[in-house]
Amino acid sequence: MSALASPPAYDDGNIFAKILRGEIPCAKVFEDERTLAFMDVMPQGEGHTLVIPKARARTLLDIAPDALAGLIVQVQRVATAAKAAFSADGLTVFQFSEAAGGQTVFHLHFHVVPRFDGVPLRPHEGGMADAAVLKDHAARIAAALRG
Ligand code: 5GP
Repeated sequence: MSALASPPAYDDGNIFAKILRGEIPCAKVFEDERTLAFMDVMPQGEGHTLVIPKARARTLLDIAPDALAGLIVQVQRVATAAKAAFSADGLTVFQFSEAAGGQTVFHLHFHVVPRFDGVPLRPHEGGMADAAVLKDHAARIAAALRG
């Protein structure tokens, strides 16, 4: 796409839109009226969580600044809880916009990955995790969020 072309429209058929509509399941960590956090089905590390707005935003560039401000606060909350839940040494937080940026699901999302000294990230889009493990990890992070 050239710099002058319009960005692609939001596609309501994307997988995260289906999760938001309850059409496919997820291992939910947290939800409020504007935000949903759930486990990545192909985690790049233990506790890999996705934080998404409920607003129809395709990329980082498509969300209103005030909504983004609220979303990033939730990213920080989830990151704090995920680090505590897994007794992690650190965190990696990342966001891809458009295919050229590495995005594969076209609904804005932030990745939150607890990190451990000396443990590399697994590949993006690696193997599927066991659903029961993801549910357990979501419950651990949710408990840490409750404090
Ligand atoms: P992106 O490359 O767009 O930044 O990341 C999309 C992420 O969504 C990937 O890390 C991938 O593992 C994850 N993902 C893809 N499909 C599903 C799904 O159906 N459920 C969940 N929970 N995660 C998904």
